Amino acid sequence: FEPDFVHALPILRAIEAAGYEAYFVGGSVRDALLELPIHDVDIATSAYPAEVKQIFTRTIDTGIQHGTVTVRDHGHSYEVTTFRTESGYQDFRRPDHVTFVRSLKEDLKRRDFTINALAMREDGTILDLFHGLDDLKAHLIRAVGDPNQRFHEDALRMMRAVRFESQLGFTVEAQTAAAIKTQHELLSKIAIERTHSEFAKLMLGIKRHNGLTTFIQSELYTQCPDFATHRDDLISLSQLNDQQLTDEASAWLLIANAFKLTVAQTRKLLKDWKSSNELIATVAAGVKLLPLIVTGSAQPLDLYHAGADVLRITLEAAEILQGVAPETWQTQYDALPIHDKHELAINGKDLMERLQMQPGPQLGKALNGVERAIVLGQLENNESAILKWVQANAE
Ligand code: ATP
Ligand code: MG
Repeated sequence: FEPDFVHALPILRAIEAAGYEAYFVGGSVRDALLELPIHDVDIATSAYPAEVKQIFTRTIDTGIQHGTVTVRDHGHSYEVTTFRTESGYQDFRRPDHVTFVRSLKEDLKRRDFTINALAMREDGTILDLFHGLDDLKAHLIRAVGDPNQRFHEDALRMMRAVRFESQLGFTVEAQTAAAIKTQHELLSKIAIERTHSEFAKLMLGIKRHNGLTTFIQSELYTQCPDFATHRDDLISLSQLNDQQLTDEASAWLLIANAFKLTVAQTRKLLKDWKSSNELIATVAAGVKLLPLIVTGSAQPLDLYHAGADVLRITLEAAEILQGVAPETWQTQYDALPIHDKHELAINGKDLMERLQMQPGPQLGKALNGVERAIVLGQLENNESAILKWVQANAE
């Protein structure tokens, strides 16, 4: 038993003591069987939400209309969700109705893939109603039931399939893969934020090549913002060294590079994928820096203006493109006299007080000049040296 499960055992036992069934379900059971670190422990139960709330003293109505109650226990939170079925997926994304049921089997049947439809009892035994254990052994991602119907119900599952392929290093089973190809256009019905989240997980997985290959061959990519005209570029991207990425920004930088995008085109692409402003800024700065790193022509000021985060993701991308860790850049960056404007020994106020300078463009220019000279090692970062330098340069 993983420690996370051990902590949650009293929750399962309390529900069972009250006369209901309770199981660990979903990703945590899958990951524990694969001996991977587990994230959130999900609990499924035959108890209805109101019944769950009667059992525990501290609960939060997280998604009570979907049957989820968060139980707080010793500083931990556990999502306890009532067995449910879903029906009427009229817009190819969310079910119109969820119905609470008392049968575990009905609940497992609505889950996306056999490896995600395993349940674990409090004593560690596994309930495997859809041969998920066989698929786990064979490293297969197989839809529960008829794959065409399941993707028609919820088109996001197609992105989840390719995401798991990369994340787990599995293969999408043939009929499931064929159904993705048949249904790929339905992905256009899914909110881009949700597709984005799955795609980012794909890009950060251990077998990016596998996930991208199915993403391309199934034509899913044609339903993604600004990807449709880049089939060959996506294939090149999929053929890069499969080294795992640690940051989503590195992934988008590799995409911008494969698509040969300008900074402005990169910003547009990321905006169309509804990315955060922070991600957009980081990747855009990476697009500027990457060619300088790859050609060996980056200067100290380029590294300084990029900053530590942009440098890190750019080096991560460069390493994948070039196959070697460009180590000296990090060393050069670390050796810069300062890494941020705030590290200057003086600020605008000091210049005004000590040199009777007036606020305005002149002052800004002087400060920028100081910053630049310090980064380039032409000026020492101490107050008297800086004041002397500003006076000398003002004359
Ligand atoms: P992760 O490691 O990313 O959390 P996960 O499998 O736990 O992977 P979640 O999104 O946390 O994914 O979902 C928990 C469980 O809910 C899944 O294992 C699966 O059984 C079920 N599930 C999630 N999304 C869907 C979906 N779109 N359709 C059907 N079942 C789903
Ligand atoms: Mg999960």
